[in-house]
Amino acid sequence: MKIEDQTYKSKTRKYIEKFPFLHDFIYSKVKNLRAKKMDIEARSIINKIYNKKACDLFSHVQIETISKCNGKCSFCPVNTYTDPRNLEFMDEEVFFKVIYELKKISYKGVVSFFGNNEALLDKRIVDWIERSREILPQAVFSLYTNGTPLNLSKFIRLTDILDEFIINNYSDNGKLHSNIEEIIKYQETSNKNYKNVTIRKRLENQIMHTRAGNSPVALNQVKVAATCTYPFHQINILPSGNISLCCNDAYGEQIMGNIKNNSLVKIWNNQNYKDLREKIYSTRQNIKICKSCDEIQNHDDYIHKSKLIDKSI
Ligand code: SF4
Ligand code: SF4
Repeated sequence: MKIEDQTYKSKTRKYIEKFPFLHDFIYSKVKNLRAKKMDIEARSIINKIYNKKACDLFSHVQIETISKCNGKCSFCPVNTYTDPRNLEFMDEEVFFKVIYELKKISYKGVVSFFGNNEALLDKRIVDWIERSREILPQAVFSLYTNGTPLNLSKFIRLTDILDEFIINNYSDNGKLHSNIEEIIKYQETSNKNYKNVTIRKRLENQIMHTRAGNSPVALNQVKVAATCTYPFHQINILPSGNISLCCNDAYGEQIMGNIKNNSLVKIWNNQNYKDLREKIYSTRQNIKICKSCDEIQNHDDYIHKSKLIDKSI
């Protein structure tokens, strides 16, 4: 088990936020420089791993089974105060349609059992992940949670079946919640090392990415022209069965298809996706929802997924 403190970096930025002009100046300079670097990296990844105009398969399936979160994170478009979505649950039939379709293609990529939500608020999810593990023994299973609905029994069950289990402990005083402390104590006395678990201390109130323009607190709108790798690797399924553009499309503004009336692979290769990939490859400014998005990270899980794809080539 790893315990990471991510509050230090955020606190530095929080300090700069006290001086908005300074913040805007530093932030836009840094963002633009990083965007240029990331653009070169992303193009080389897209060119190397995928065929620019017709990548055959996703490497990351994200499934949101409940449309709500109980979190209060100021930077998040779905925090409990500002989320405009209605409460919606994915039908069991839809969930297992996805899982069995993945089985049919012997899927070895990543399956994330969360989206813009707190997945553990869905009381069915632990059972469903356990059943999915039997159906998809080779896939990489991932779950991120804010930890609040977690108890020891769920923790033990989940650590047995997940490859990656991230517990984001949000609090501005940097303290761990009591249930998370209990889990850490349990781990210290057990024989298992829980290598698949990371507990991250994170700040609840801070400014982060614009999240496709939907973050309630993002400051300036830095226009990023870079391409983006998401439509080349991630398929994002909402409780209704709709496929949204990516995990930053929190409200499902750009719908690529619906799993109830089509297969994942067919949707992934439909004309909507092909057109979109062509547009975003030249610049994200070609796409309405992407225009205000400053997501420019090639984050760890992406690199992990690229490696998975490399292996299967
Ligand atoms: S960041 Fe996570 S925990 Fe916080 S409100 Fe958003 S979905 Fe919920
Ligand atoms: S630019 Fe942003 S909204 Fe558009 S696909 Fe990439 S991450 Fe998603």
